[in-house]
Amino acid sequence: MAKKSEQAEEAVVRTRAPEQYPWHDDLWQMTRGAMMRLPHALLLHGLPGLGKQAFGLRLARSLLCLTPNGAGDACGSCKSCALLDAGTHPDIAMVTTLADSKVISVDQIRELTDFMSLKPHTATRKVAVLWPAHVMNVNAANSLLKMLEEPPAGSFLLLVSDQAGRIPATVRSRCARVIFRPPARDEAMRWLEDTRGTQSDNVSLLALAGGAPLAAAVFAETGWIEQRDSLLTDLENLAGHRDTPCACASRWKSAGAEPAVDAVYGLAADLVRLGTAGPGASVSAPELRDRLQHILQSIELKKLYHFLDAVSEVRNLLRTPLDQLLLIEDLLIRWQRVVPHIV
Ligand SMILES: [Zn+2]
Repeated sequence: MAKKSEQAEEAVVRTRAPEQYPWHDDLWQMTRGAMMRLPHALLLHGLPGLGKQAFGLRLARSLLCLTPNGAGDACGSCKSCALLDAGTHPDIAMVTTLADSKVISVDQIRELTDFMSLKPHTATRKVAVLWPAHVMNVNAANSLLKMLEEPPAGSFLLLVSDQAGRIPATVRSRCARVIFRPPARDEAMRWLEDTRGTQSDNVSLLALAGGAPLAAAVFAETGWIEQRDSLLTDLENLAGHRDTPCACASRWKSAGAEPAVDAVYGLAADLVRLGTAGPGASVSAPELRDRLQHILQSIELKKLYHFLDAVSEVRNLLRTPLDQLLLIEDLLIRWQRVVPHIV
């Protein structure tokens, strides 16, 4: 019973009016203006942390609203908008991974196809938002392709992804692309300052996030810079044999394997930059420069490149059903081989 009410609550949150971000303004006008001339499937893609999903929902709401305003946004007061706010609109489908799965399955896409083929109930069309689109498995993508080849009349499908390259080309080619790019630095900084105040680490958070303001805010909330510091301490301890790959892997897995390995990738890439361009090289973790420089003294650059490749591979493998603990442990054993001499 509790689970059901949680799901209902989630459905309400999912279709409620999303936040609007200033860096979407131009893209919104362009997309909303061209909507009726575009194919019935859009692929919203770009770096994480740019608000693509919020944009997709904003678009979905505006397509379902019975009386959109002058800017093309949902009015917020018609019958359709009220149903969206209540999470009970019969003409929208929000498709994402189920709680116990990393992929969007063929069953979910079949269900979506059935939903889309029915006539709209309240609005004048049916809309589906599907994210992250790159986690559809092969069968799901093939099933979606069939729908894209013969789109039900009056339906709109909005695919959202920050790794569009992982979506089969056959699917991508049937979608109009809406590309999200990081806003100008000043605009991003302004938003970050409005959101979390003028903080000394805003600049480094934004750099860490590749200029994506929402990602920078998440890094701030989750204490990412502190976490990265602690991951480097783990790597130093492993190099000095004061910790074991097994114990360390277990901690990383509990804390979240993917963010940890992403951070290690950033640190390894910084080591490569310092190793090739010298101590003044631009790095993603400037506050850790001296410690990285110290580690670099006992690493062969060639081995470091191999390690960076290994981290990259593990990042991809973590998204598969393989055992995360073993993947991380193996990576940390490699790390110990790369830096055998640090004290
Ligand atoms: Zn409305």
